[in-house]
Amino acid sequence: MKAVRFIEPGRPPVVAEVAVPVPGPGEVLVKIGGAGVCHSDLHVLDHGVAGAGECRGFTLGHENAGWVAAVGAGVTGWKEGDPVAVYGHWGCGHCHACQQSMENYCENADSLPNPGGGFGADGGMADYLLVPSPRLLVPLGTLAPREAAPLTDAALTPYHAIKRALSLLTPDATAVVIGVGGLGHMAVQLLRALCGARVVAVDVDERRLEHARQLGAELAVNSRDGTDAAARIRAFTGVRRAAFVLDCVGAQPTLDLAVQIVGRNSQLTVVGVGGGVIQLGQLTLPFGCSVCTPLWGTRAELQEVIALAQSGRIHVDAHYFGITEGPRVLQELREGKIMGRAVLVP
Ligand code: NAD
Ligand code: ZN
Repeated sequence: MKAVRFIEPGRPPVVAEVAVPVPGPGEVLVKIGGAGVCHSDLHVLDHGVAGAGECRGFTLGHENAGWVAAVGAGVTGWKEGDPVAVYGHWGCGHCHACQQSMENYCENADSLPNPGGGFGADGGMADYLLVPSPRLLVPLGTLAPREAAPLTDAALTPYHAIKRALSLLTPDATAVVIGVGGLGHMAVQLLRALCGARVVAVDVDERRLEHARQLGAELAVNSRDGTDAAARIRAFTGVRRAAFVLDCVGAQPTLDLAVQIVGRNSQLTVVGVGGGVIQLGQLTLPFGCSVCTPLWGTRAELQEVIALAQSGRIHVDAHYFGITEGPRVLQELREGKIMGRAVLVP
């Protein structure tokens, strides 16, 4: 089968021929219906994966959904053709966090060979994905796998982040989403579905701001250089400022903006891996502001996200491409040309 492969840090991805895996005891082979293309794939291409051994080549793709194709010895409860989403952060499965379905916070993560498919193990940008345990499969019900693939990360990550802040997100509060790309366009919808807070969207691209307005943002602010985005947002929020800021970029300018617009007794959540830094001290942030750097979401939350999509309350703006187009799509994502989420379909 053809697969989009990471070779080594700094090298562009390549399309290569690899063997279809055969599931061993306890494993499941999934026929890929769609593999989402995430900005994190670009971080992998640039820097490799921390902890993934010597970062030998592997197939990219950590946002996967498809159908059960074959099960290894001892796997029960699943049959060929079952539509599934693949939970992407592969923990040890038995530590305290994993037992609570929080494999994203697996306590043994540092001693595992890698954090999952597309992050050191072979991922889903191919015809088939080998999943190490049926524990990592979530039933898709009536959702089409290619539409559902981005739910496993682009929706699950902001869902997890928003859920942690829900008690602050009252109808008289303001939530700000910075970066309205793959994660951000889901974050705007998730906020609308989960709480009554007013939603403000920030980006440097007018098309994405228009997209955010269509998805329910009350205010959409362009924060490109030379604009006083903080003043515009503060004029909207008043002295309370934002109860919740979700930075889906995490670069220095966006973190600097976040600090200027967040209120007292608030949450500033950074999911973007843009390399920026927040100075944390008693006097550097508004009093009572908690800073949070969540990773992905839990298995249980993936079920909740799928339920939201199934009921039509959130929808991925997906754009479909073939597997062999993967390297070009990744380059277009880097150049900011992909709206919503690109999904590779074998
Ligand atoms: P994307 O490329 O689809 O979207 C990024 C968006 O940010 C675009 O709309 C872009 O115009 C906007 N943007 C870029 N620079 C900006 C700036 N200076 N100010 C305002 N907006 C700006 O990316 P994505 O797939 O949504 O991923 C976003 C980030 O989240 C990446 O860093 C990715 O690695 C990270 N991520 C983290 C987790 C986690 O668990 N913490 C999970 C998935 C992705
Ligand atoms: Zn664990």
